[in-house]
Amino acid sequence: MQPGSPERQQAAQWEAEAAAAEVAAAEAEAAMKQVRVDTGAAGEPEHKIGEEQPKVAAPVQSRAAEEGDARDSTRQLPTLKPAPARGNCAHGKPRSKGRCCKRTSGRRCEELRARRPVTVDSSKARTSLDALKISIRQLKWKEFPFGRRLPCDIYWHGVSFHDNDIFSGQVNKFPGMTEMVRKITLSRAVRVMQDLFPEEYNFYPRSWILPEEFQLFVAQVRMVKDGDPTWKPTFIVKPDSGCQGDGIYLIKDPSDIRLAGTLQSRPAVVQEYICKPLLIDKLKFDIRLYVLLKSLDPLEIYIAKDGLSRFCTEPYQEPSPKNLHHIFMHLTNYSLNIHSGNFIHSDSVNTGSKRTFSSILGRLSSKGVDIKKIWSDIISLVIKTVIALTPELKVFYQSDIPAGRPGPTCFQILGFDILLMKNLKPILLEVNANPSMRIEHEQELSPGVFENVPSLVDEEVKVAVIRDTLRLMDPLKKKRENQSRQLEKPLAGKEDPVESEIAVPPDSSTSSEAHLPSICLKQVFPKYAKQFNYLRLVDRMANLFIRFLGIKGTMKLGPTGFRTFIRNCRLSSSSLSMAAVDILYIDITRRWNSMTLDQRDSGMCLQAFIEAFFYLAQKKFKMLPLHEQVASLIDLCEYHLSLLDEKRLVCGRRGTSGGRPPYTPQDAAPFAQPAEGIPQPHAISASKPSYYRRPLS
Ligand code: ADP
Repeated sequence: MQPGSPERQQAAQWEAEAAAAEVAAAEAEAAMKQVRVDTGAAGEPEHKIGEEQPKVAAPVQSRAAEEGDARDSTRQLPTLKPAPARGNCAHGKPRSKGRCCKRTSGRRCEELRARRPVTVDSSKARTSLDALKISIRQLKWKEFPFGRRLPCDIYWHGVSFHDNDIFSGQVNKFPGMTEMVRKITLSRAVRVMQDLFPEEYNFYPRSWILPEEFQLFVAQVRMVKDGDPTWKPTFIVKPDSGCQGDGIYLIKDPSDIRLAGTLQSRPAVVQEYICKPLLIDKLKFDIRLYVLLKSLDPLEIYIAKDGLSRFCTEPYQEPSPKNLHHIFMHLTNYSLNIHSGNFIHSDSVNTGSKRTFSSILGRLSSKGVDIKKIWSDIISLVIKTVIALTPELKVFYQSDIPAGRPGPTCFQILGFDILLMKNLKPILLEVNANPSMRIEHEQELSPGVFENVPSLVDEEVKVAVIRDTLRLMDPLKKKRENQSRQLEKPLAGKEDPVESEIAVPPDSSTSSEAHLPSICLKQVFPKYAKQFNYLRLVDRMANLFIRFLGIKGTMKLGPTGFRTFIRNCRLSSSSLSMAAVDILYIDITRRWNSMTLDQRDSGMCLQAFIEAFFYLAQKKFKMLPLHEQVASLIDLCEYHLSLLDEKRLVCGRRGTSGGRPPYTPQDAAPFAQPAEGIPQPHAISASKPSYYRRPLS
C-alpha cells in the first residue's frame, strides 16, 4: 500500500472509526456499570456468557502503535464521527431496550455498527498469510497482521486451534481436528463406520493399524491368498505422524514389514494399494478438494467447486517388485515430485504437474465421461467421511470449550485427498487438517538455488476458497441483511418519523460483494441430510457419552459415569449385572488405554465406549444386523433419558434454561421402578423419541 493511497486512507479511516468506537464502548460500558452500581437496578445482565467482555479504554494513539499497523504514529485521528459503541446510540448516549436517544433510533445504531469492516487477526496465519491477505483485501475487511489487544471477529490460525488463546469471535480451527485426521485415528473412525455400514464406506481402502493389528493383517492376507492364489496384492505402509509422503513405502507381502523393523518406534497404517488408478497422459494423479466444516452442531458442510490435481512425474505401471520403490511413479505428493527433473510448472490450469480439478473434469467430459456421477460420488464420500469424524470431534470440542463457558465458535477448511480409480470410483486417501494454502512455488534458478515464484493455479483455487469461507463466516452479514430488510419494510404507523428521515441506505453486504464472483463453496449438508442422516449412529452414541462425562473438560468416562449410563438407560438386567458392567468397563478401558498414546487422563475414551456399546447392543438385540442392533439400543437409551429429563422437569423444574441439566451425582441414583409401558425397541424406533442434543456452536 502506498503512503497516501486511497487504500491507505480508507484503512486509516476504518482504524480511526474502530478505535474511537472501542474507546467509546469501553467508556459507555463503564458508565453504564456505574449507573447500575449507583442505582442497584437489575436492568439488563451485564454480559451474556460468551459475549465480548468490556475492554479497558487505552489511549488511541498508543494502542494503534502497539497493534503494529503500518501507519504514521504521529497522525491525528480524522475528525470523523465515531461509530456508535456497544450500548450507545449514534450520538454516544447510552440507550435502553434497543432505543436510542431522542434524535435517532436503535436501528440507526445497528446500521452504523454493521457498516464497520470485519476484523481479522492474521498474526498466526503462517503459510496461508499471502492468500489470506488477498482475500481480506478483496472483501475490504480489516486485517490485524500483528494481532490486536482488543478482540477480532475472526482469528486465522495456520496450524491449530491452540495457536492463540481466544475467548470470543470465530477461529478457523476446531480443537482436536489435527488428532482426528491422523492416519490411525481416521482409519479407526472409518473402521467403526465400515463395521456398521460396509457398503456405504467402501470408498476407504482396507487398512490395519500397526503394530497392534500386525498379526491380524498377516492372518487376513494369508486367508485371502489361500482362497485365491492368483491374488497378488500390494500394500502401502504410511507412518502415522508422517505427511508429504514422508516414510511411505510399498510392499508385496506382510513379511516385508518386518524388514523395515521400526514399527515399535513408529506406529503406522498399512493399507491396500489401489493398483488401477485413472491415468491422464499415462500419469497417476490425485485430487485435493477443499471442504469447509462450517459448524459441528448443527452439521454444516460445504465443498469447493474446484480443487487441484497433483500429478506423478514418471509414467505409471502397476506395482511390481521392480518398480515398488519408484516414488515418482506411485506417490502423487507435490512435495516429492517437485524434486523430479520431469516436474512441469505451468501457468495454465490444464497443463503441467499441478492443474485444476475442473480442467481434468473438462477433459473427461470431452471424452463422454459422466461428470455429474463423479461429483455426486465425491460429495457422498465427503459427507460420509465427515460423519465418521464428527463424533470424536464433539468430544474434543466440549473438552476445550465446555458449554456455558466463553469461547470462540469454530470452522475449518479441510483438504481431502482423493484418488480416482480407473472405473472412476473415488477413493479417500487422507484428510488434511492444515492443507497447504501457499500460493507460490519453488523454482530452481540454478542447480541448488531456489526462489519462490507466484503459482497462478494455486492462487486461483486457494484464494477463492479462503475468501469465500470468510464470506460464509462473515459475522456482520446477518446484521447487514437484517438492516436492509428492515429498510425495505414499509414503516409502521407507530414509528418515529424522525427515524425514517435519517434512515440512510446501508452499504449492505450485497453491494459490498457486488464486485466479487459467486461463492465457490457449495453447501452439501444439511442440503443432503435426508440421504445421510441414517448413518449418524456414532454421533448419537457420542451425545450419550458426552452426557455422562460429568466433569467439564474431560474426554474420558470414569467408572461411575459408565455405571450411571447403564442405570439411567436401564440396561442392566438379570443377564447383565452391575458387576458384569464393571468388568466390561475395566476390560475394554484397559485394552484401549494400552493401545492409544494419549495417556492424558485415565478412563474410557469414546472409541472404547463405542466398543462397549456394540457389545451391549449385540447382547440385547441378538438377531438383527449390527447397525440395527446399535440403532435399537440408541433409541432405547434416548427414550429412557428423555423420560428422566421429563421427570426432572416436573419435579423441581430444574434445567429449564436450555439444554439438559448438567450431570449431577443424583444421576447416579437409580430411579425407583422402571417406567411402565416402555415400548419395545422397534416401537421406539418408529416413534422416534426426541433425544437430547447438546448445542456446540
Ligand atoms: P501423506 O500424508 O504422507 O501425503 P498419503 O496418505 O496422502 O500420505 O499418501 C501419499 C501418496 O501415496 C498419495 O498422495 C497417493 O499418491 C499415494 N497413496 C496413498 N495411499 C494409497 C493407496 N491406498 N493406494 C494408492 N496410492 C496411495
